[in-house]
Amino acid sequence: MVAISSENCIEFFIPIIAAMYIGACVAPISHNYTKNETIHALNISRPNVIFCSQQESSKYIDMKKELNFIEKIIIIDNPKSGGGGIDSINSFIERSLGKSDLLYKFEPDAVDVDNHVSFILYSSGTTGLPKGVMITDRNVLTKFMHGDDPRLLLQVEDRCTFGFLPFFHAYGLFVGLSSIYKKTKIIVLRKFEENLFLRIIEKYKITALPLVPPLAVFLAKSPLVNKYDLSSVVEVGCGAAPLSKEIEELVKKRLKIKNIQQAYGLTEATLALMGMPVGEQRHGSSGKIYPYITCKVRHPETGKSLGPNQVGELCFKGPLIMKGYYGDEQSTRNTFTSDGWLLTGDLGYYDNEEYFYIVGRLKELIKYKGFQVPPAELEKILLTNPEIKDAAVVGLPDEEAGELPLAFIVKNPNFNITEDEVKQFVAKRVSPQKRLRGGVIFVPEIPKNPSGKILRRKLQEQLTKYKSKL
Ligand code: AMP
Repeated sequence: MVAISSENCIEFFIPIIAAMYIGACVAPISHNYTKNETIHALNISRPNVIFCSQQESSKYIDMKKELNFIEKIIIIDNPKSGGGGIDSINSFIERSLGKSDLLYKFEPDAVDVDNHVSFILYSSGTTGLPKGVMITDRNVLTKFMHGDDPRLLLQVEDRCTFGFLPFFHAYGLFVGLSSIYKKTKIIVLRKFEENLFLRIIEKYKITALPLVPPLAVFLAKSPLVNKYDLSSVVEVGCGAAPLSKEIEELVKKRLKIKNIQQAYGLTEATLALMGMPVGEQRHGSSGKIYPYITCKVRHPETGKSLGPNQVGELCFKGPLIMKGYYGDEQSTRNTFTSDGWLLTGDLGYYDNEEYFYIVGRLKELIKYKGFQVPPAELEKILLTNPEIKDAAVVGLPDEEAGELPLAFIVKNPNFNITEDEVKQFVAKRVSPQKRLRGGVIFVPEIPKNPSGKILRRKLQEQLTKYKSKL
């Protein structure tokens, strides 16, 4: 088991591909994670070797003292680094191979592709804290097969894609891996910056642009876009959160393209399960179910299959669906029906021609700019503050970010904690995307059902009232 934690860089894929050849499993861990978030992730996958960037290394060197399963730390992006028990990737390769001809004799072991786990990706799923999603070799192979299908993806000669979405998330990871698999060019950007992003598209003639909705908003509205020639772009995909019709139209106009291919998926399904077929267009739709995948729209209470134009929970079967959550049988059981359907916690429907529309979420997950923000994680942190008696976190709808995490807080009697203090308390303990950007609302109590489960729908209703007063 190896982990990788780094800003985007080309070297990111060296340990990943090596691991695939030797049948090891890779857990990519966000480089934005705080120490506690990282420890939570490491304790799930318990990697023996950590590949990280120079920038991340001190965090991991520090943790190696506490976490005895970590045997080795290897820095991937600085050949000169090393010493003190730390290797650079170059010295690690040299030392491991020595003068042997191992490299030339090497034959990958055969693995059981249906069961062998190639990646552990982190996702909170429908409830609770982040868990380790087991992605099998079969899942990865199916993903590559979909990428080769001309019905699903425009097959452009001289394809050049853009690796700016974080590689630790399934979206960025598979943008990178797919371009290696397809032997097409990818330009990798370490850190997103607006002008640089546009300049790279122009300079390297990017043809394929994988977007998330906040970036689509930027392309639709920013005056900077007019300064650059973006005419090389012929293929634009968008996923990870809903994209509004208005933004879709504006981006199409500005980039002078016919379609934006919306897609829908989730980490638990190696990402995209459906997408708009090449050359087709349906406003607001995330397209049609991909080959080899079966979908059922399920009535959330009765479990019955629903027909066209009826909203229910989207459930899936097929070779993209994860094996389960690593070392967490209970969460795995709760995420599948007894007859094997993955419960996504997303609400949607299909029309008479089988185009799908995602309309909401049953699960508690908040998505800020496409990043997962698990409310349970923030609630757990808030409850460690002695001035807070109870807390619940929900998403405040926002045009640019999708949703902003917002906390409902019950103060402990005799304490008078302020909104700013609550926000700062959280900001010090979480990675940037999880900050309480939506604000704080103080309430006398948090609505709960008799078994103590937070009634998030009631809080969402209060939020609508609160928003209309703003
Ligand atoms: P993640 O596992 O981080 O990729 O998050 C997956 C979740 O993002 C899904 O379960 C949905 O709630 C949301 N999502 C992904 N794609 C779309 C889409 N096209 N439209 C609406 N929501 C989406």
